[in-house]
Amino acid sequence: MEESLTDYLRHSLPVQNNWVSELEQQAAIDHVPIMEPVSMHFMMLQVKLKQPQRILEIGTAIGYSALRMLEAHPDTTIVTIERDEQRYQQAVTNIKHAEKQEQINLMYGDAKDIMNELITDKEKFDLIFIDAAKGQYKYFFELAHQLLTKNGLIISDNVLFRGYVANPDTTPKKYKKMVEKLIAYNEFLTTHPDFITTIVPIGDGVAISLKR
Ligand code: SAH
Ligand code: MG
Repeated sequence: MEESLTDYLRHSLPVQNNWVSELEQQAAIDHVPIMEPVSMHFMMLQVKLKQPQRILEIGTAIGYSALRMLEAHPDTTIVTIERDEQRYQQAVTNIKHAEKQEQINLMYGDAKDIMNELITDKEKFDLIFIDAAKGQYKYFFELAHQLLTKNGLIISDNVLFRGYVANPDTTPKKYKKMVEKLIAYNEFLTTHPDFITTIVPIGDGVAISLKR
């Protein structure tokens, strides 16, 4: 994304609460890839529009996006999954500190296993946010499809991955495989017969997929 445009959009954001800045600082210090402020704000608007009763999040990290989705729609409940123990523990602490343990159900483990359990239990969600290992997005999406209510929304973060998805020739070697997978994922999304998808070039790229 062009830097000046990102800065411009960043400056257009409303002033945020202290706890938000504190979590953003914590993430920066620990190199945790939380959602960028501009796309987070966009995501919060989607949550406000959708008014989901239940949200499922794949990739909690330290609880930043879960707390912000709840901020956008305080009546919702969120199930969020994280497989990294240290981040999971940080999320537990942050969510307790915010006194949101009642609304945010943190689950420790691999999202693939936990999503399969949720499918067995016939759980349903109105909005599913995919923000975990990018090489597995297609599989996460297929599981998410089975967990989605009618007219449900699936949002995927980082689908343009630093712009490399649109310029694969410029991708550094270490990201080539992941970028190839994201290109295939975006094509899978945009041609999926059961969803209408638009990819928005905000933050690191956000795909919004609405079930037909
Ligand atoms: N949604 C968070 C950021 C998530 S970063 C926010 O914006 O605040 C991605 C996280 O997904 C990492 O913490 C990583 O450990 C986790 N993750 C990756 N693959 C996963 C998997 N298969 N199951 C559960 N968590 C996973
Ligand atoms: Mg992300």
